[in-house]
Amino acid sequence: MAKLFDVGLEALAGAPAATAADRPAAATVENAFSPLSSAAEFPPSNKSFYLETFGCQMNVHDSEKVAGVLLQRGYRSVEDPAHADLVLYNTCSIREKAAQKVFARLGDWKTLSAGKIIGVLGCLAQQEGEEIFERAPWVSLVCGSASYRRLPELVDELEAGGRRVMGLDLDTDETFETEITRRDNPFRAYLTIIEGCDYSCAYCVVPHTRGPERSRLSESILADVRRLADWGYTEIQLLGQTVNSYRDPSPRGLSFVDLLRAVADVQGIRRVRFTTSHPNNFHRGIVEAIDEVPALCDHIHLPVQSGSTPVLRAMRRTYSREEYLEKISWVREAKRSISMTTDIIVGFPGERDRDFEDTLSLLETVGYDGVFSFKYSPRPNTTARDMPDAVPEEEKSSRLAVLQERQRQIQIARNEKLVGSDFEVLVDGHHPARSQWAGRTSSNRIINFSTPHQNLLGQYAQVRVTRSGPNSLVGEQLP
Ligand code: SAM
Ligand code: SF4
Repeated sequence: MAKLFDVGLEALAGAPAATAADRPAAATVENAFSPLSSAAEFPPSNKSFYLETFGCQMNVHDSEKVAGVLLQRGYRSVEDPAHADLVLYNTCSIREKAAQKVFARLGDWKTLSAGKIIGVLGCLAQQEGEEIFERAPWVSLVCGSASYRRLPELVDELEAGGRRVMGLDLDTDETFETEITRRDNPFRAYLTIIEGCDYSCAYCVVPHTRGPERSRLSESILADVRRLADWGYTEIQLLGQTVNSYRDPSPRGLSFVDLLRAVADVQGIRRVRFTTSHPNNFHRGIVEAIDEVPALCDHIHLPVQSGSTPVLRAMRRTYSREEYLEKISWVREAKRSISMTTDIIVGFPGERDRDFEDTLSLLETVGYDGVFSFKYSPRPNTTARDMPDAVPEEEKSSRLAVLQERQRQIQIARNEKLVGSDFEVLVDGHHPARSQWAGRTSSNRIINFSTPHQNLLGQYAQVRVTRSGPNSLVGEQLP
């Protein structure tokens, strides 16, 4: 199935469990109906930029904001880096492979960078800092995501002839607010509500690369939502590394659940999603809100990382297997049937066969609808890096394969049970060769379906499921 913008943790059925490690970043969708995709709104200029994004949904959305900043300054967006004056990579460093990929891309410019500005943004920029200039002296801009508020000023310096500029402050309580955000997904609008992370999971670079937790003011979030609804968006996805630790810093002091309800209440909004929730901040109020408010989607992504309490403790995840399962029981007791997805790391230092068995048994106990699974990758500035008892690489690979096959069987069985059910989908894709349309259910399942109608993109349709596979469903539109 062609995936126009099938990105991020939210992809329930689109990404088979086996391929989660290298999810593609969003592609610009040409028929976006966001008014911001119209070049006519911006001052004409002969300068152009190319921006490529690696990694998670937060990076994808940061890139939409960076593009907004550049468009506002008169830059044109181009699809081919060879034709760009400014070539930017918004990078990921969550696993070693992601970081290597960026350096490979930078290597392409070694002899071709004359007349261009090459910049590195995001997590790898924050992690490597000045080191990037050493490894790739043709780079002139290095800026971590916690410093994006300084981007306009950094671009000014480069335009004024600056040779090398850097933004690497982590010590900030500010969030990246922009007047203009380019919207690359015409059907689902992403909104960051909280940046950074205050946890300190032993394997994770995020607290180092994205800085401390900072929540946005509820009023500016709701103003954005109202604006998006005016532009025709009906689906909003709220983003944060620990989205459910949101706490409104304004005197209104909205909680995460208050905010969910307020966003769902905005006229024109039919679907509200949120990712990623941390189990520690996951409470019954979230499930109750989903039960009570139909616009809150019936899907929760709740990363568990491991099914073994000793491994969770070593990972510093702040909950045990039993505590996690108690939260799952709240979801299972809900009136609505809520789909569940998760993230799992295999081969964390010290993970024994029996710990891995506990993870496999957790898959069965929970019955996830999708799992993003990763081999543990040692990262700089993390405490796990120096832990003893590393699991050999071959063992990690074999555990990953076992886990993914087990999860595939679970998905086959769960999806089979949906045959004969009816779902409302938001149509976001078309496959002319197969005469099929594709849409997502509120639970974030993909259904490829046939219909006698001509153009359904962006519309809601009622579909009956006729067949199922491990990663998607097939159906027919109901009259
Ligand atoms: N904030 C989210 C949470 O608490 O679950 C996760 C954010 S992280 C960008 C996305 C996923 O990458 C994590 O859930 C974890 O499974 C995976 N990950 C993070 N660091 C990793 C590492 N060093 N090796 C392998 N996978 C890692
Ligand atoms: Fe990383 Fe843990 Fe923070 Fe998630 S909660 S971003 S895994 S440190």
